[in-house]
Amino acid sequence: MKKHNFSAGPCILPQEVLKKASEAVLNFNDDNLSLIEISHRSKPFVNVMENARSLALELLGLEGKGYKALFLHGGASTQFLMAAYNLLEKKAAYLNTGTWSDKAIKEAKLFGELVEVASSKDSGFTHIPKEYAIPTDADYFHCTSNNTIFGTQMKSFPETNVPLICDMSSDIFSRQLDFSKFDLIYAGAQKNMGPAGTTLVVIKEDILGKVSRTIPSMLNYKVHLGKDSMFNTPAVFPVYVSMLTLEWLKNLGGIAAIEKINDQKAALLYGEIDRNPLFKGVVATEDRSHMNATFTLTDASLKETFDTLCNEAGINGLNGHRSVGGYRASMYNALPLESVQVLVDVMQAVAQKA
Ligand SMILES: *Cc1c(COP(=O)(O)O)cnc(C)c1O
Repeated sequence: MKKHNFSAGPCILPQEVLKKASEAVLNFNDDNLSLIEISHRSKPFVNVMENARSLALELLGLEGKGYKALFLHGGASTQFLMAAYNLLEKKAAYLNTGTWSDKAIKEAKLFGELVEVASSKDSGFTHIPKEYAIPTDADYFHCTSNNTIFGTQMKSFPETNVPLICDMSSDIFSRQLDFSKFDLIYAGAQKNMGPAGTTLVVIKEDILGKVSRTIPSMLNYKVHLGKDSMFNTPAVFPVYVSMLTLEWLKNLGGIAAIEKINDQKAALLYGEIDRNPLFKGVVATEDRSHMNATFTLTDASLKETFDTLCNEAGINGLNGHRSVGGYRASMYNALPLESVQVLVDVMQAVAQKA
């Protein structure tokens, strides 16, 4: 039986997606060829890429609104650099809410003046700063919607006149937002969409072409857009699996439908964390992530009991990030509510053994 997979990334994918993906590796489209041994310029794969790109825009509600989607290489980490390369002329504003924001800031500093509008670093990134001003002359404002490592999530986004850039790696397609507020969204596939190896970039086209520097081709959004995300060989398998996951999501009823399930999962787990005296949440209640729930045992001596019970129940991937410790239950789109119930049952069983 499949384990209950709470892995923070690469993450759980829908079982039917894994099945279709494995079939395509052996025989794609009944052509008696593997998906990963055909030309990326062949009609069948061009269809995959186009389908993946348009599904992404459709699910985000961005069709016909001046946006384009790309599937690029290099992970979200390359987007830290690429966003600044393409959009930072003089000054950019960043909100620092965790390790990934911190890394984005480090890269952007290579390209211009950087204003850190607020940071929760001093408090161990356990909350999202809310009172801050974004300079009106900034080239853009950058934030991280969900902090995968610390378990906080932005519940609202600032109203600002400057272009809004968001790293949505770990909560894209998980909740309804007005995505048209954002000018650039990027997300590594391996958190909520597919396997590692491709990154979704959603760009409002009219924000490009405003910096004076020369941009190397592979780092230039315009070059990738001009070639319909086929400037070089795309990550064919990760793009295909991402397309399957997006199809799965669409068939389920899209983001509105999955958000309901994600809310149920989060309510179930946080409810138990708050009710059970043996567990404690790590971050500010109002900023709790619905994707990554971080918690600790109030009595460290119960660690072995809890870990053993988790193992016996088939629970995988519950350890906190190596930089923070504790526990982290990642409840991405494909994780069923039943898996969260299994975890909650184990948390209750620990209480009985304590
Ligand atoms: C995992 C993660 C990244 C890094 O993604 P890579 O694809 O490994 O470069 C960046 N931002 C967030 C929010 C993440 O969760």
